Amino acid sequence: VRKPIVGGNWKCNPSKVSELKELVANIDACDTSGCDVYVCPSTLHIGIVYKSFKNGAKVAPQNCNYKGCGAYTGEMSADQMVDMGLEWCLIGHSERRGEFGLPTPPESNSLLAMKCKYLLEKGMKVIFAIGEPLPVREKGLKAVMETLIPQLLEIKGMLDPARVVLAYEPVWSIGTGVTASPAQAQETHRAIRQWIAKEVSPSVAAEIRIQYGGSANAKNAPDLSKCPDVDGFLVGGASLKPEIAEIVAAVA
Ligand code: 13P
Repeated sequence: VRKPIVGGNWKCNPSKVSELKELVANIDACDTSGCDVYVCPSTLHIGIVYKSFKNGAKVAPQNCNYKGCGAYTGEMSADQMVDMGLEWCLIGHSERRGEFGLPTPPESNSLLAMKCKYLLEKGMKVIFAIGEPLPVREKGLKAVMETLIPQLLEIKGMLDPARVVLAYEPVWSIGTGVTASPAQAQETHRAIRQWIAKEVSPSVAAEIRIQYGGSANAKNAPDLSKCPDVDGFLVGGASLKPEIAEIVAAVA
């Protein structure tokens, strides 16, 4: 019932404008007939590539402010996104939540809830990323959920399945080559869904899409996508390569 969705998060790549053409071609090679596809270019590159995709792939900025236009140096607003015809925005990535020693103040659950509310009010759709660090995972699923629930709590009233996609990205698997096993991904996605069923409603839980992110690639995508509660991927490194098309093919 849930349509799969795959995102390519280019993060702060590529280093040269001249490399964008190839990356756009990789995304354009994805078969979007059975799968929603979006790509998150760096802020500097959004304006260059946002009209480039011929296969319907959407462009989602990697961040957004919660105030709109004005004196907010270095920020982007949902108003600007709407004006450019962008539909989706990624927020809550662990690299913005302050993992990996981000020198700027990390983005808190409350700040992210404000961003989510603001984006939805402006008519945008949101990819909302959550995840736990390694020491938490090592304690098991109960501890994992104790970390994920506070990340979800303040947005639980905003979980409209038509407009919000969750991206479960365990921090220990991002960029490490260590992927969650299908069993780990499935039990976590199921636990998130069960929590939503209890806290929001069974129908929202059944309809909301939950992507997996963290060292997803063409090799592990087929097995991970067999998990009944995994609805696609948020791909970092592999989204910079032609294999992104294989990942999309694996879920569709
Ligand atoms: P990797 O696929 O490079 O591990 O990155 C995952 C990610 O953070 C996507 O947002």
